[in-house]
Amino acid sequence: MAHPVIEADECIACGVCVDDCPQGVLELQDVATVVDEDSCIGCGVCLDGCPSGAITEIAED
Ligand code: SF4
Ligand code: SF4
Repeated sequence: MAHPVIEADECIACGVCVDDCPQGVLELQDVATVVDEDSCIGCGVCLDGCPSGAITEIAED
């Protein structure tokens, strides 16, 4: 199962990943948070678009 790994300390809560994810996997709480891991297709759009490098990898586990 794919899911983005988000470093909360690096997240500036801009919401770009939340808006860009085609699957609705992410939600902006205090920081970007995975709320629907089962829907993640591992596309990497969130990682590519994050301006702060807070999304370090798309993990497969
Ligand atoms: S890898 Fe793709 S589907 Fe998964 S959370 Fe990121 S943008 Fe959404
Ligand atoms: S794009 Fe990056 S900095 Fe912006 S909310 Fe998502 S994880 Fe946080």
